[in-house]
Amino acid sequence: MNATDPAAEPGPAPQPRTDDERTLLVKVFGKDRPGITAGLFATLAEYGVDVIDIEQVVTRGRITLCALVTPPSGQASEGGLRVTVHRWAEELKLQAEIISGTGDNRPRREGRSHVTVLGHPLTAAAVAALAGLVSEAGGNIDRVFRLAKYPVTAVELAVSGLPTEQLRARLAPEASALGVDIAVVGAGLHRRAKRLVVMDVDSTLIQDEVIELFAAHAGCEAEVAEVTAAAMRGELDFAESLRARVSLLAGLDAAVVEKVRAEVRLTPGARTLIRTLKRLGYQVAIVSGGFTQVTDHLVEQLGLDYAAANTLEVADGRFTGRVTGEIVDRAGKARWLARFAEQAGVPLAQTVAIGDGANDLDMLNAAGLGVAFNAKPVVREAAHTAVNVPFLDTVLYLLGITRDEVEAADALDGSVTD
Ligand SMILES: [Mg+2]
Repeated sequence: MNATDPAAEPGPAPQPRTDDERTLLVKVFGKDRPGITAGLFATLAEYGVDVIDIEQVVTRGRITLCALVTPPSGQASEGGLRVTVHRWAEELKLQAEIISGTGDNRPRREGRSHVTVLGHPLTAAAVAALAGLVSEAGGNIDRVFRLAKYPVTAVELAVSGLPTEQLRARLAPEASALGVDIAVVGAGLHRRAKRLVVMDVDSTLIQDEVIELFAAHAGCEAEVAEVTAAAMRGELDFAESLRARVSLLAGLDAAVVEKVRAEVRLTPGARTLIRTLKRLGYQVAIVSGGFTQVTDHLVEQLGLDYAAANTLEVADGRFTGRVTGEIVDRAGKARWLARFAEQAGVPLAQTVAIGDGANDLDMLNAAGLGVAFNAKPVVREAAHTAVNVPFLDTVLYLLGITRDEVEAADALDGSVTD
């Protein structure tokens, strides 16, 4: 049953407003200061009007306040209302406009999506091109608002009129040419209900490839880097390349684990992303083709809920050149995503996966939203969405969380953003 079905509610069923009923659109524009909204509605209240809609935005300190109201009732006249509103506006040095008409907005069309656009910078040309693509595809932009001004400019467009998949197929391929990142997700409650985020580690949560850090201590950095690059491009089977690289570490003193842990550099925005997700009640996991010797430390440091990685085998205080247990490879990462989702009690459709490499592709495709983070082209092209700015917290904007909400939450408990 539809939640708004009047039959489900006690009492008389509300009657929808008809399109031919007279309405007044009152628009006020000018320098913002406290009391404008209170003042306008106090003025309108003198005429006994009812409010149908209110939209208010402030852009560079200028307020645009629109009120859609019923015409004056009783003895009050529309002419009187006009004079009073204009007089009030003049006193506050605001511009006011009152437009007579009928009805309300047309109902939003079916096929509703949220389009998040991240730019660094966001050019007018990119906005023009994207808005043009939406209208050519038969869609309409119903609302636009800013999600963030830092570290990127992020806006969200509410689009209706065509299926989400079709809209994504039109916009996503244009993103890199326009110098923006675009995420297109279906509108609806499920968007707010995503409750598990699973991240790759190397070159996603952290800026490093952990095996290369170990290799530097073993003096085989160049050989390892070469194999890693080929594996990430999808040219080599990940499990085989992992075994080949790990074998180069045979004999290395396992005490280097402490040094490697200290060398790991978190990606900018990683702490902000995790802290904010945790506050919002998300569970956060990492899944890595790297090693538990490092991921265990990250779990502790960042307060993560779940982790899966390979373990470097140690005998007599030295690496044997082998890994133990089930190898976390491309298929393994997708398996762990499903396991974590089950443990967290979250349907796969409500999961978000983030990764940069070819071995993340199965996981990105299996998740409800797969985000390619500064990824190799093969990954970028296959994922639902791509982020190409080097700030991990921009993923929050794809989930519809604004910078203001992030900062307000930080201010509330006195922590700082990174
Ligand atoms: Mg990676």
